[in-house]
Order: sequence, then structure tokens, then C-alpha cells
Amino acid sequence: MKIGLIVITVLLALAVPALAATSPTGKSAAGIRAYYSSGDWNRAVKQQADKAKAYIAKRTKGKRAAKKPALVLDIDETSLNNYPCLDRKDGLPYQPAVYAGCVVEFKAPAIKPVLSVFKFAQKRHVHVVFITGRPEAIRDGTLDNLKAAGFKGKYDLVLQPPSHGGDASMVPYKSGARRQVQKRGYKILANLGDQRSDLNGGYSERTYKLPNVIYRTP
Ligand SMILES: [Mg+2]
Repeated sequence: MKIGLIVITVLLALAVPALAATSPTGKSAAGIRAYYSSGDWNRAVKQQADKAKAYIAKRTKGKRAAKKPALVLDIDETSLNNYPCLDRKDGLPYQPAVYAGCVVEFKAPAIKPVLSVFKFAQKRHVHVVFITGRPEAIRDGTLDNLKAAGFKGKYDLVLQPPSHGGDASMVPYKSGARRQVQKRGYKILANLGDQRSDLNGGYSERTYKLPNVIYRTP
């Protein structure tokens, strides 16, 4: 591993309090692998993605159409899938150092049903905003990874600023970021995330909780 990556890994694991507070779910490695390999994970994600699309469709046409509609997406385990890397590197159950190493490889594949929501929204002129707990320090790698995974075209990317230091919960940062989006005149129709902390705190008409059997972030 390059020195730069080690520095970033340490940054990720330590300097971001919510990531430092991330913990395993208690599920065994075998249990996690079975959940993915059985297709249960994909089915659960697709079910939520389909619901989000149906709501976006409803709010982007006819009399109920929102004027400046927006979609909010979390990144890790919502838009990008770190499971293949964690599986390959024996990072299951959740281990922070392995996980951080996977993130900074910037090679995570898209979570297909969510990529489909992303494209569905763009086609309907719904402004997409990624709001992630990843630190601002890895903006470029994150943009590269999103592009390679198929998240192309126009969107905003909000990463965690270094100033967001003292909070163990992601809720103040993430809900604050959504509030900023709405202050710009957007109406957030849907918000997709794999953690309750992606979704709590308001500023979205609908929230869609995706499964995460690997870790929990407060
Ligand atoms: Mg996530």
C-alpha cells in the first residue's frame, strides 16, 4: 500500500468520528456471505429502489410535480458496494482498517438498483446529491470511483468537512447537508441510505432504508 493510501486510511478510520464509531452488526462472516450470495441482499435493495422510483415518477409529472426536485443518495453500501472487496480481503465481520482500505481502492462497483434510481432521476431532471460520511480529503478518488461505476453526468457531491469534528452521530452533518440543499430551493423527494443515520433528521419527503448486515454507523 502506498504511503498516501495509508495516510488516508488513518484519516478515514480516526479523523472521522462517525466512521470511528462504526461497529459490526454481530452477524458472522458466513451469515453475511450467505445474505449476499443467496440474492436476498439484492432483492431487498431492489424493492426499496423500485419504491423510490415510483415515488419520483409520481412527484415529477402532472399537477403534483415538484418545481426543483432532488434526490439524495448515500455512497457506501447505498450507491457503491464494498462487499466484494471486504469478502476478498477477509474483512468480514467488519474490520475498520480493512474497510477503510477497500474504500480508498476506489474500485467499488455500483449497487445496480440504486444506479438505476440515479439514472431514472436524471432523466426526469431531478437533481442528484450524494451526501457521504467520506471525508473531503478523498473527493477526487470518490469522483473517479463513482464515474467508473456508472454514476455519470451532473450531480453534487457533499463530503464530510474536517470541521465536522466532534459529533459521533452522522445525523447532524447529513440532515444539515440536506437542509442546505433545500435552502437552494430544491425539494428532496427521496433519500436512500443503508443506515438510519442517513435518513433521520428530516428534510426529505420519503426515505428508503437499504439493508446493511455488515456494519452500523450511528
Ligand atoms: Mg452507507
